[in-house]
Amino acid sequence: MFNFLMPTKIITGEFSVLNNSKDLIYGTKAMIVTGKTSGAKSGALSDVIKVLEENNIPYLVYDKIGNNPTIEETLEGGKQAKNFGADFLIGIGGGSPLDATKAIAVYAVNETGTDFDMYDIFDLKFKNKPLPMVAIPTTAGTGSETTPYSILTLHKEKNKRSFASPDVFYKVAFLDGRYTLNLPLQIARNTAVDAMCHLLEGFTNKRSSPASDYIALEGLRIFGKHLETIINGDFDTEKCTELLWAATLGGIVISQTGTTIVHSMGYPLTYYKDIPHGMANGLLLGEYLERTATVLPEKVKNALIMLGFDKLIDFKEYLLKILPCDIKFTKEEFEDWTATTIQAKNVPICPFEVTREDEIEIFNKCLI
Ligand code: NAP
Ligand code: ZN
Repeated sequence: MFNFLMPTKIITGEFSVLNNSKDLIYGTKAMIVTGKTSGAKSGALSDVIKVLEENNIPYLVYDKIGNNPTIEETLEGGKQAKNFGADFLIGIGGGSPLDATKAIAVYAVNETGTDFDMYDIFDLKFKNKPLPMVAIPTTAGTGSETTPYSILTLHKEKNKRSFASPDVFYKVAFLDGRYTLNLPLQIARNTAVDAMCHLLEGFTNKRSSPASDYIALEGLRIFGKHLETIINGDFDTEKCTELLWAATLGGIVISQTGTTIVHSMGYPLTYYKDIPHGMANGLLLGEYLERTATVLPEKVKNALIMLGFDKLIDFKEYLLKILPCDIKFTKEEFEDWTATTIQAKNVPICPFEVTREDEIEIFNKCLI
């Protein structure tokens, strides 16, 4: 028995924004939410503006979203959307702007005050339905365009925290490889590894289903086809659109299954050490699979076959090659971080038993 939900319409291919204006326009006044440079550098922002102007849709560009967006940035975005009178949002960027757009969609129509505190978003205590949103990813990684999750940085808790609601699924996602073609190589690699993590964690965790497994294997097959390209940076638009599709499949998978300790243990690496999200996960992935193979040997074997590896050690070497990291860690940091990470919601859905001591050992094995 399993359920499957994926309400986002997906439009793939070159020039898909320019050729599908009706799917981009979800109201009468738009706020475009993007990163400081990704909207412009990817070329997506100019395509969107062209379509909005041709259709006489007034718009405001909010390009203040930083990496690992803070709750404060999204609250400010919500105020701007409300003041402008936006009735739909267009998120353009990597996972950071795409996640931020979801929180902005909530704050735009749910003012904070006595009966709704900004932190209440995590308990879904908002009364009004978030604004409708359209997604244009400019990294092939997070799959945020097809997840009900928004992950925000909370300085108050010195961590990242997520909220999940079917109300923040995007209405439409446009996947055009032109927008990821010029990604700096290391960002392309980090984000590709993030997507592989989603596919592998979803495939192996306790909430996986026949439907999510089927999709996960297809996503892994596509990554397997492009392993060399991810090493040497030999991208073209067609390969980029395929990789975007594989990353979107990763989003569809974790929408059904959630992630695992790879993600929750990755958050402190990002918060305290500024390690990009995908790289943080990738540093922990090999040991996660090693432990998973003790309880699900067939699944790990099948996943590796789809990716094109005979043995786990070969995949681990591949990850080391594409994720260079010379940051130093201390055992005290692992003690501190695991006090929080062991409480994460995805610990119980791991395929193997996880204690705080296990997490400390995993950090030690992967990072020292
Ligand atoms: P990101 O933080 O969105 O972007 C990383 C960097 O790439 C930024 O400096 C950005 O520039 C730049 N960039 C993006 N697209 C570009 C392009 N086409 N050309 C040149 N530069 C570009 O990275 P991400 O890995 O995609 O997203 C990570 C975030 O997603 C994290 O906060 C993570 O927690 C979250 N996440 C969410 C989910 C989910 O289900 N919702 C799943 C996994 C991860 P600018 O900042 O200057 O624009
Ligand atoms: Zn991720």
